[in-house]
Amino acid sequence: MNNNVCYQGEKIKFDDIIEKNVNLSEFTNFKTGGNAEFVATPGRFSELIAALKFAEERKLNITIMGDGSNTLVSDKGIEGLVIRTKHLSRYSSRGNMFCCRAGMTLEKAIALTLEDGMEGLEYLSGIQGSIGGAIAGNSGAYGHSISEHLLYVDYVTFDGKTHRMGAQVIDFGYRYSPFMDMKDCLIFEVGFLLPKSQDFLKKGKDTQLALKHERRNKGYYDYPSAGSVFKNPEGSLTAGQMLDKCNMKLQKIGDAMVSKKHANLIVNTGHAKSSDIYKLALKGKDEVKKKFNVDLEFEIKLLGNFS
Ligand SMILES: Cc1cc2nc3c(=O)[nH]c(=O)nc-3n(C[C@H](O)[C@H](O)[C@H](O)COP(=O)(O)OP(=O)(O)OC[C@H]3O[C@@H](n4cnc5c(N)ncnc54)[C@H](O)[C@@H]3O)c2cc1C
Repeated sequence: MNNNVCYQGEKIKFDDIIEKNVNLSEFTNFKTGGNAEFVATPGRFSELIAALKFAEERKLNITIMGDGSNTLVSDKGIEGLVIRTKHLSRYSSRGNMFCCRAGMTLEKAIALTLEDGMEGLEYLSGIQGSIGGAIAGNSGAYGHSISEHLLYVDYVTFDGKTHRMGAQVIDFGYRYSPFMDMKDCLIFEVGFLLPKSQDFLKKGKDTQLALKHERRNKGYYDYPSAGSVFKNPEGSLTAGQMLDKCNMKLQKIGDAMVSKKHANLIVNTGHAKSSDIYKLALKGKDEVKKKFNVDLEFEIKLLGNFS
């Protein structure tokens, strides 16, 4: 593939940003899944636009992947172009404003804001993934979510146009953002307004360490996983508590296993396939439906065809 496009006077070499027939398992936390027809990993806005043009010219479907920590990719792979945001990671910090591109990891954003004495992102410590993925799913923990201190989101629609949405008009919910329903956009940059104080670094770091420690104790990092499989339904019991009462802990299909510490966590104990993980999740969902008449909703994102 040596075709170049000219974008605003700049030559983009597709070979530098687009690969063909790429196995996606190494890009997901579960370490499972098939191949993508094409993968683009743009590092700059112009490269992103070139990748979108590449897809448009070939009429390819586009799928966005951040850090792959909340996704289950089908063993059959993904048709079309997968755009990975990993290299979109520039940032700026001034006064109370912290702005970063979507591919920056949460961990890095937390570290940078703490260094500047900025408060507000530390509650996300220990959650893997990128800023873009976290905004898309309104990630959170301990009663806090990433949308709390958000100022704006800049996103790019697949026709190449850029848009800014002020946080006040974004209808965030529990593990929900409207970007999930907009199938034709990539979150490109995010701005936060964060309270700042001289002495916050020590307090923030203590919170960061304590939360990471707690997650380690809960078994989140024992094996590859994508965190909680299902969202918590309304009502007094969490998804994990319901799955636990259905005796799902330690149940296995192939090398996919429900964690012994947390019934809403499926882990890859070796060479699990995505289909094993999916079947085990469906088994838990069926059991909960039978016992509690509750329809659990997936929190992890299923990419590709699972039928
Ligand atoms: C051990 C562990 C613990 C976890 N604990 C928590 C927790 O406590 N709370 C929580 O909320 N989550 C948790 N998660 C889930 C996950 O880490 C977060 O949801 C994370 O923010 C997802 O980011 P990502 O970049 O990995 O997203 P990905 O998995 O890459 O993508 C998730 C979805 O977002 C979309 N997306 C990603 N980037 C963009 C973008 N730039 N523009 C548009 N759409 C995009 C993708 O298309 C996909 O639909 C946990 C995961 C693990 C592995």
